[in-house]
Amino acid sequence: MRAIVVEKTDAGQSVALKAFDEADFMDGDVTVRVTHSTLNYKDGLALTGRGPVVRRFPMIPGIDFAGVVERSDSDAFKPGDAVILNGWGTGETHLGAYAEKSRVKADWLVPLPAGLTAAQAMAIGTAGYTAMLSVMALERHGLKPEHGPAVVTGAAGGVGSVAISLLASAGWHVIASTGREQEADYLKGLGAKEIIARQELSGPARPLAKERWAAGVDSVGTNTLANLLAMTRYGGAIAACGLAGGMDLPTSVAPFILRGVALLGIDSVMAPKARRLEAWARLARDLDHAKLAAMTTTVPLDAVIAKGADILDGKVRGRVVVEIAP
Ligand code: NAP
Repeated sequence: MRAIVVEKTDAGQSVALKAFDEADFMDGDVTVRVTHSTLNYKDGLALTGRGPVVRRFPMIPGIDFAGVVERSDSDAFKPGDAVILNGWGTGETHLGAYAEKSRVKADWLVPLPAGLTAAQAMAIGTAGYTAMLSVMALERHGLKPEHGPAVVTGAAGGVGSVAISLLASAGWHVIASTGREQEADYLKGLGAKEIIARQELSGPARPLAKERWAAGVDSVGTNTLANLLAMTRYGGAIAACGLAGGMDLPTSVAPFILRGVALLGIDSVMAPKARRLEAWARLARDLDHAKLAAMTTTVPLDAVIAKGADILDGKVRGRVVVEIAP
């Protein structure tokens, strides 16, 4: 089968589309014919080697896929079932999605939810599923649109685009923070009511600042997250899911102890199955298909290598579907 393979030699990391022998698959009880994958920030790190994402060589990168079960030794799935996979170390420690087939553990798979095609599921991808996990966390905290605006950082990226769309559909007044002011119309089309410049939030944060929002979804980290916390209304919360700006968090305890603000950590990779099923059911039900189409571009498998650098350089808008064998 064809696969994108990352290898490491003394000369460094290399990546190429090449033949891969199924005999070299890793353990798993379900073999899936992969029809679609996608490009997430983490895939960019794996493809370029700019971050230590790949922990086993050779590796097939790609942290998520949609496809059709070809062979199953598990009672949970049978040949012909449409499935999706997000995370669990695929593309990092387990051979991943940028291949015509993948062998994985049945426990890692969820059925493709009714109402979504495989291409739509990958237009959502791990970025969109993480945006949904973030919105669900804010809701579990008791936050509702009547409590105030919701801010979304890294707005024109994958997590950001889906988060804006979901929050706007749920009735939130969405404030989108972007470094790409030329994308203002795109962000408003997704449902953002206000656009603010990335620089407004990227300088060092004061312990507390004027209260501007009740909720937030942050895919940037570092000073941006610290500023979000300092500007969150009493009793509000920020869901932290990313590090596109950096991994540090130069904040103080002031927002927590003086305003009762909460910082909600979001992990999609090891999220338990029940939460995944809930997130995918919600995405199938709540995400506006026209907005999803507006944020999505599609590339063939061999083009994803070049796109890996683009996503890290902040040049990708919205979501990228990787068409493998539709
Ligand atoms: P993405 O499409 O590249 O989006 C990231 C966005 O962040 C960019 O489009 C850009 O938006 C903004 N950005 C980029 N560089 C920045 C910088 N230096 N400073 C401030 N903003 C910057 O990536 P993604 O796939 O949506 O992922 C976003 C983040 O979430 C990544 O850090 C990723 O690792 C993380 N993530 C985490 C999980 C999890 O399980 N916790 C799951 C998925 C993703 P603008 O141009 O609009 O400013």
